[in-house]
Amino acid sequence: MSTVEFRKIGKSFGSVEVLRDIDLTIGDGDFTVLLGPSGCGKTTLLRMTAGLETVSAGEIHIGERVVNDIHPRDRDIAMVFQNYALYPTMRVSENIGFSLEVAGHSKQEIRQKVEEAAAMLSLTDYLDRYPKELSGGQRQRVAMGRAMVRDAQVFLFDEPLSNLDAKLRAHMRVEIRQLHDRLSATTLYVTHDQIEAMTMADKIVLMQGGNIVQSGTPDELYDSPSTKYAAEFIGSPAMNFLNGVLEVQGGEAFFSSSDLKLKLPENYAALENGRELVCGIRPTDVSLSQTGDISGKLIIAEKTGAEIQLHMSIQGTDFSAVVSRDAKFSAGDQVTLAVEPNRLHIFDAATELRL
Ligand code: ATP
Repeated sequence: MSTVEFRKIGKSFGSVEVLRDIDLTIGDGDFTVLLGPSGCGKTTLLRMTAGLETVSAGEIHIGERVVNDIHPRDRDIAMVFQNYALYPTMRVSENIGFSLEVAGHSKQEIRQKVEEAAAMLSLTDYLDRYPKELSGGQRQRVAMGRAMVRDAQVFLFDEPLSNLDAKLRAHMRVEIRQLHDRLSATTLYVTHDQIEAMTMADKIVLMQGGNIVQSGTPDELYDSPSTKYAAEFIGSPAMNFLNGVLEVQGGEAFFSSSDLKLKLPENYAALENGRELVCGIRPTDVSLSQTGDISGKLIIAEKTGAEIQLHMSIQGTDFSAVVSRDAKFSAGDQVTLAVEPNRLHIFDAATELRL
C-alpha cells in the first residue's frame, strides 16, 4: 500500500479556479474522507488523483512517484464510482474479473481472485447473475469487488452510497469500513454526507470553495471546529448559533446577548471586553434545568423515537435542543436549559474563526 500526498495542488477550468494550494498527506492505510457541499472541489481532487483530470499546479505523489503525468492505468489506483459503472451484458463474475482479463491474467488466477473477492463481499451466490438482477447494495458491492481484485495501492471512492436508500446506506457504511479494516488499503473517499464522514473516516478533510477548512479526526472536528462553517457542517442536528458580545467582569468571562448571559471558561477573560462573538451550542449539549441560563418559547416538539427534539425561539433566533423522550412539553411552553461552559463553541463574529 502507499501514501498519497498533495503538494500545493491547484486546478482551474479555463479562467475558473476551483482548487487552490491544497496541501494534504494521506497516510499509508488511512481512510480519509473529503467532505464538503456540492461544488467545493472534492470530486475534482479525486479525479485528479485518478488521472481523469489534469493538474494545473503542484504535485500529486502516490508512494515514491509524482503521478501528474502518469497515465491513469499506470497509477495503481482503483476507483469506485457513484453510478457503479457495471457492464450490463456481463455477469457479476465477469464484471469483477474484467480488468484482470484485460491485463492478461490466466483464467485460473482470475477465477481464484474473483472468488476471494466475492466471498469477502458476500457475493458468492450471485456470481452468475447480471447487474440488472441485483439490488443497489449488491451492485455497489460488485463495483467494490472489481476494485479489490486489482490489488491497487490506493482506493478512491466517489460518493459510492448516494444512490442507495437510508437503510442500505447505513449497512454499506459498516461494510466498507470493515472491508477497509481487512484490506488496510489507503483510501480517499468523497462525500457531502457528514454522517458518512463521521462514521467511516480515520481523518476528515473538510473543504469549502476549493480550500481545505480543517482536517483531523472525526472527534477533533466535532469537539473543536476551527470555524463557524466547520461547526455548522459537522453534527446532526446542526449546531445552534447566537450572536452577542464578550463581557469580562472581575476576571470572569461571559457571553452576553440582551437578557441571555452564559458563563465562559476563564481563559476568555483575557480577550477584549465587548468583542463581538458568535456562540455555538450543540442541541445535544444542553439539558433541561429550572436553574439554566437559556430560556425560550417552544415552537414544536418533534418525537424521533429515542428522544425529543425541541424547536424553540430564543431572542428571535431558532434554537433546537435534544432532550429525553420522557419530557412533556406543548407548543408555547417556556423551556429552560443549561449548558456547561466548556461545551460552548466561541467564534469571532467578524472572522468566524474559533477563539
Ligand atoms: P459535487 O458533490 O456536486 O460533485 P464537488 O465538491 O465534488 O461537488 P466538483 O465536482 O469537484 O465539486 O466541482 C468543483 C467546481 O468545479 C464546481 O464549481 C464545478 O462547476 C466546476 N467544474 C467541475 N468540472 C468542470 C469542468 N469540466 N469544466 C468547468 N468547471 C468544472
